Amino acid sequence: MTTKELDNMYVSHTYGRFPIEIVRGEKEMVYDETGKEYIDLSSGIAVSTFGHSDKELIKAATEQMEKFFHTSNLYYSAPCANLAKLLCDKTGAKKVFFSNSGAEANECAIKAAREYAAKTKGEDYYTIITLKNSFHGRTITTLAATGQDTFHQNFLPLTNGFVYGIANDINSVKELVASHKCAAIMFELVQGEGGVMPLSKDFVIGLSQIAKENDLVLIADEVQTGNGRTGKLYAYMHYGITPDIVTTAKGLSGGLPIGATMFFEKTKDIYSPGMHGSTFGGNPVSCAAGISVISRIDEKLLSDVAEKGEYIKNSLTGYKGVKSVSGLGLMIGIETEKDAKDVVALCRENGVLVITAKTKVRLLPPLNISKENLQKAIEIIKKSLV
Ligand code: PLP
Repeated sequence: MTTKELDNMYVSHTYGRFPIEIVRGEKEMVYDETGKEYIDLSSGIAVSTFGHSDKELIKAATEQMEKFFHTSNLYYSAPCANLAKLLCDKTGAKKVFFSNSGAEANECAIKAAREYAAKTKGEDYYTIITLKNSFHGRTITTLAATGQDTFHQNFLPLTNGFVYGIANDINSVKELVASHKCAAIMFELVQGEGGVMPLSKDFVIGLSQIAKENDLVLIADEVQTGNGRTGKLYAYMHYGITPDIVTTAKGLSGGLPIGATMFFEKTKDIYSPGMHGSTFGGNPVSCAAGISVISRIDEKLLSDVAEKGEYIKNSLTGYKGVKSVSGLGLMIGIETEKDAKDVVALCRENGVLVITAKTKVRLLPPLNISKENLQKAIEIIKKSLV
């Protein structure tokens, strides 16, 4: 049987897969089972920070694998400790909890916020404000945090205690704070799955002020926006605020599973032994990969990301078949006249991999994509738009 036949027969049908099998990747290029090559502007949904089969990542991971793969969190291990220090040094966070995915990073943040509120205000202060059109994960609790009904259908009841404000409408959040006993506000700085919609600066500053005034835990979900994707190491850095918790995953280890929940001053001592855990969390190989990724995200790379993002926006804004272009850095959404799914299919036929975000075409190229291949890909996208 072919891979496609095996997959269709044996893998749970949670994904509507595109009709190609990826067999190899190198930098921003991937190759399918027929040998056809594609410029990959999807990066495994914002995961392959430095593209495919990145040599430095391979070296970091294999060197660690040759020492040991896994020990459990009963013992100390250097990659976990060193990645935590690196993240703290680069962000001002004080402590990090490692897990395996974005949803888990958010679960950890939600538990921490409830624990903080229970201790400081009382157990009935458990409500968490998130935003409509947000996406925070697929577990029952992170689905509850996700402010989109389509993801909730037939999975009810979800975890209690989530209410939804409206993005860029600060009064909607103030009303929720006034009418509920709240623990936290949780938001994505750019709503990724919601159509690559950046929040406005005023709104984010407003959220930060409301959190301070009411002693709420301010949680930035940087699962998709983090690790250089938007042209800053973390997207909150564009907004002049410091969250109390930042969650991330996806691009942190460039392709190996990891989640991280970063605790800043107010939240650094919430957890104590026994309150939270994860068998694979802090896995030495994933953390070694994370060190390789984070230590290479420097000012030069970040300014390249910003420049490439501007290049994409300038190339496509006002172009035939484009209604609007949104996003930050190399996280771009294109509102198209044609159905986005048709544009994605045409791009694929023409040798470029892009994905959708709601009704938009979404671009998430590797941060180090060559300008030459980026230009080539944009020309193919243009051809596929009309
Ligand atoms: N939060 C955000 C903002 C995301 O974009 C995603 C995934 O797309 C998640 C959380 C969930 O991450 P994971 O699929 O790693 O659990």
